[in-house]
Amino acid sequence: LPHLPNNSPIGRLEDNTYSRYAGASRFGQFPLSKKTKDALRAAKFVVMTDIQRASLPHALCGRDILGAAKTGSGKTLAFIIPVLEKLYRERWGPEDGVGSIIISPTRELAGQIFDVLKDVGKHHNFSAGLLIGGRKDVDMEKERVNELNILICTPGRLLQHMDETPNFDCSQMQVLVLDEADRILDSGFKKELNAIISQLPKRRQTLLFSATQTKSIQDLARLSLKDPEYLSVHEES
Ligand code: ADP
Ligand code: MG
Repeated sequence: LPHLPNNSPIGRLEDNTYSRYAGASRFGQFPLSKKTKDALRAAKFVVMTDIQRASLPHALCGRDILGAAKTGSGKTLAFIIPVLEKLYRERWGPEDGVGSIIISPTRELAGQIFDVLKDVGKHHNFSAGLLIGGRKDVDMEKERVNELNILICTPGRLLQHMDETPNFDCSQMQVLVLDEADRILDSGFKKELNAIISQLPKRRQTLLFSATQTKSIQDLARLSLKDPEYLSVHEES
């Protein structure tokens, strides 16, 4: 298993644009877009949580992340902010199609991520869609899915689109997020997850978050991450 630093929230510092922000404790200290900053401020997100403080300096400079932190520690913003900033910096537009895919184990959690994205991303011009099972409008979804910039999905529904939707194109996807990856694997989605990852561009950023560090998470990390930052945060409270 890779060494997990637990005395310091930052696993490795190298010379890069963001290393000087490693000690930041507030979102306002990062060079984020004004669109993101304004929305964070309006939502009263000011001081970062430990996992956000540990991961954002790396995620914002494009590194792969394996972040482990317990439920309620603020993992959602730790990936929503890098997704928004990456697409913003790439000047992602409607004609660019799918720029980011966020995979979540359940419809309910996917819906919660979507709500945070709508809030923190409200000043950006990206289109986003919730692709989850149990919806009847899959045909309409199939017509629209290529116009969406950010997809928030459960594994089954995403794979259904990859298999069935004509011209479904994620060849330009920049950032893959696997949220609650331990729960995705626990729910028996390992095969689906591997099938999905095998169809995504290899040149991408991957942000993998989980509540626990297990063997299956390490296996998934080995298959899907490139020279990742291993961040394990245990908040004392
Ligand atoms: P996790 O995914 O780790 O379980 P969430 O991202 O769902 O955690 O966040 C848990 C709660 O903490 C949410 O209500 C969220 O709005 C809040 N939260 C997250 N980050 C911050 C922050 N920096 N400041 C204040 N509240 C925050
Ligand atoms: Mg979460």
